[in-house]
Amino acid sequence: MAAPRSVVDLIARKRDGVELAASDIDWLIESYTHNEMPDYQMAAFLMAVVWRGMSDMETVALTLAMARSGARLNLRERFPLIADKHSTGGVGDKLTLVVAPIVASCGLPVAKMSGRGLGHTGGTIDKLESIPGMRTDFGAAEFIRLVEAHGLALAAQSGELAPADGKLYALRDVTATVESIPLIAASVMSKKLAIGPSDLLLDVKVGRGAFMRSITDARALAALMVRIGREAGIRVSATLTAMNEPLGYAVGNALEVAEAVATLRGDGPASVTALSAHESAVLLRSAGLVQTLAKGEDWARSAIRSGSALEKFAEVVTAQGGDVSVIYDIDRLPRARAVRVVPAPRAGWVAGWAADIVGAIAVELGAGRTRKGEPVAHEVGLRLRAVTGSKVKAGEPLVEIHARSEEDATSVEQRLLAACSWSETPVTPQPQILAVMS
Ligand code: URA
Repeated sequence: MAAPRSVVDLIARKRDGVELAASDIDWLIESYTHNEMPDYQMAAFLMAVVWRGMSDMETVALTLAMARSGARLNLRERFPLIADKHSTGGVGDKLTLVVAPIVASCGLPVAKMSGRGLGHTGGTIDKLESIPGMRTDFGAAEFIRLVEAHGLALAAQSGELAPADGKLYALRDVTATVESIPLIAASVMSKKLAIGPSDLLLDVKVGRGAFMRSITDARALAALMVRIGREAGIRVSATLTAMNEPLGYAVGNALEVAEAVATLRGDGPASVTALSAHESAVLLRSAGLVQTLAKGEDWARSAIRSGSALEKFAEVVTAQGGDVSVIYDIDRLPRARAVRVVPAPRAGWVAGWAADIVGAIAVELGAGRTRKGEPVAHEVGLRLRAVTGSKVKAGEPLVEIHARSEEDATSVEQRLLAACSWSETPVTPQPQILAVMS
């Protein structure tokens, strides 16, 4: 008979850099999913993984164990083409809210299971929940019904699909155990294996506001996820995109929904529009609906121009119980009690905003969590009034702070100003798309 396993022994082996057997990893994930292992032991194990890493064999075993922790939908057996998109996390990254309706309005159904905020980065579900009444907690059957009826569903991690990831994600968020290639790969890909799309776009963010700080790490993460996905029969593409500064102007849940809606209306920041068109094009090409990225981008931009992408978003908001009037009147979204416009302390060109600091300040204002399961304040966040390359005069609006109180706004103002760097000469923004792997 095999010796009984000990959680402490497995934590110690990982701490000491020993490769674990797939069966040990299965057992750990099963125990944790069924509440037979406490958070403190899993937190210790996760921290050991952050420090020691995992072999590819261990990462695949972890991904499969997490995917097996709940139902497997295998949607591509039900829908000939079914797309999904996932970002590894950034600041101001509202692309899912734009790309998913664009792609769905072009006739490629999207089944998207999203996460909440993680560390200093925002999460699609927290953003969507700033729309009054919006539901995201669907069981598998309802999720499928939504995709069948609307060609689009935006759902939260559920107890049914990859529940192990739901628990681990919430724990990693508050234990500084996000920044790990194997943990991110397993978290992202377990959800994808549970859903089983035909086509998947992975947006791997790189830079000081991302979990991958270097292009080398980002490439390694992308390659690992692409391999896991392809072995499971999914057509996977990955884009490596810059995340040194927030994407667009808005950071914070309701503020980002407003910016996503503006983008779908054709009034969004050029950076958000360009990246949304590119990512939509990658998916349309992957599914064989266009032959080239240029054709896909044209199609995506015309879905914005014609209003069909915005209509698709409105349709899914209605179908998921949300108050659709906010889509046509974004002033109906939750608004912060204190809105302070911070003036530029000097003249010059904005050279950049440190995305990690901006993200951490948004979390501190209440847009993210510092404790597991904490509610977020949907209305708070920041809106940059000048971004990289903007020429600003002293005293002109630089950034808005949307806070729960004047005291909260005061407590972050100086640090926020310090997150902005300046140049005496004109500045060209860095390219957004660093590499495409498909
Ligand atoms: N997105 C996920 O789903 N998981 C991570 O660990 C990071 C980003």
